[in-house]
Formats: sequence, C-alpha cells, structure tokens
Amino acid sequence: KPFSASILTLYPEMFPGPLGHSLAGRALENNIWSLETVAIRDFANDRHHTVDDTPSGGGAGMVMRADILARALDHSCEKHPDLPILAMTPRGYPLTQSKVRQLSEGAGAIIICGRFEGMDERLFEKRAIEPVSIGDYILSGGEMAALTLLDACIRLIPGVMGKITSGEDESFETGLLEYPQYTRPVEWEGLSIPEVLRSGNHAHIKAWRQAMAERDTRLRRPDLWERYRSVQASRPLARN
Ligand code: SAM
Repeated sequence: KPFSASILTLYPEMFPGPLGHSLAGRALENNIWSLETVAIRDFANDRHHTVDDTPSGGGAGMVMRADILARALDHSCEKHPDLPILAMTPRGYPLTQSKVRQLSEGAGAIIICGRFEGMDERLFEKRAIEPVSIGDYILSGGEMAALTLLDACIRLIPGVMGKITSGEDESFETGLLEYPQYTRPVEWEGLSIPEVLRSGNHAHIKAWRQAMAERDTRLRRPDLWERYRSVQASRPLARN
C-alpha cells in the first residue's frame, strides 16, 4: 500500500503544488505515495460555510472551530483508521529528521492545516492529534508546513530517490551538519576545489569532511554541537 497523505485544508487547490514536480511528483504518478485533500469548508453547517469565530477572551484575528474541524477529521479518519493524525502549528513539537524518518516508514498521515490564529484547543483534547511545528517562525497557514513535512518524508520512501536513498551522511542523520560539497569546474573565480577532495585518498577525504562538518556545526548550530559532544563523551572508548 502506498504512503497516503490526507490533508485537511481551507485551500485544497494548494496541493500537490510543488510536490507534483521532480522526485515527489514522479513518485506520486507512480503511486509510491498518494494524496487526498479534505476541504474543511465542506463541513461547515451554515449557508456561508463559516469555519471560524472570534477568539474567546479577546484578541486579534479568528480561530478555527473545533466542531467543524472534528467533522472534517472524523471523515478522514473513517477512510484512514490506521493513519496518525498531525496538526501543523507553531505551538507543536519541533519536526526533526528522526520524526520524518519514522513517519516515512509508516502508512502515511492525516495532516490538519491551520489558518487565522489557529485551532480551538479542545480539538487536541478530544482527538489523538500530534501538534507539529516546522520551526520557530510564523507562516500564514499550515499548507506550506504540511508540504514541507511531506516533502521530507516522501524522499525517504524506498524507490523515490533511487540509490542515494540511505542519506546516511546527510545533515542531522549523523548529529552534525553535512560537510561542504564541491563540483567542477575545479577552478572558479580564482577558487579551487580543496586539494584533498581531488587526492583520491579516501581516508584523508573522510577525515577532512568530518573536520569540516564539526567546524560548521560548532559555528552555525551550537545547540547541535553541544548534543553531539555529550553523545561522543558518553560513548565507550573501545572503537578503533
Ligand atoms: N497565532 C498562532 C501562534 O502564534 O501560535 C499562529 C497562527 S499562524 C498565523 C496560522 C497557521 O499557520 C497555524 O495554525 C499553523 O497551521 C500554520 N503555521 C504557522 N507557522 C507554523 C510553523 N512554524 N509550523 C507549523 N505550522 C505553522
């Protein structure tokens, strides 16, 4: 069975969007994954298809109603009882590569996209929904967040990326940012590709890449660097 994504959104026309192109697009055509959108507005119960109301307690903007979201969600759950339910929200658990990997190994996901000031909190109390954030910034809606999450998952599904699918060296898989990459031309605007990468000496290349990965992680991501160092420090000394 292909990896299935069921997206609850006010803007179904935003899908598959960029995921209809390149690797993900080809995989969609080849039924390696499937996509369905559920238009939240179809589950409104008034003539104007209202899905939101003003925030209780006051404040700017509008809040998506729990009752209407739940009807849309229950509709999707009936079709996909086996899928985990995620809601995109900056208040969620941060998305990580290990979460992406775990999802990509599963059957897919039901993903709720927020708009306005977000969703009525009672939805999270009444349904088994995992809130997920893609980073510490505010988007105008959950659709781009859902596309981002799906893109990250889809490229890991076997058969999507071809041979390089293991991605073992990639940023975050090792606990470090990836080493810098180079390709021809060897000389560009007076800069050469580092000599070691052209040496053919695999041990030297490996050591250089490790040093560069450590340098850039220390500089750009002190948070990752601290974690990496404490993991290294707690490892038994036995290896080589
Ligand atoms: N008032 C909300 C807050 O401060 O937490 C922000 C709402 S945002 C303008 C509207 C919708 O965009 C959210 O409900 C969510 O679905 C989506 N969104 C915005 N930023 C996001 C992020 N970093 N990760 C995941 N979803 C996000």
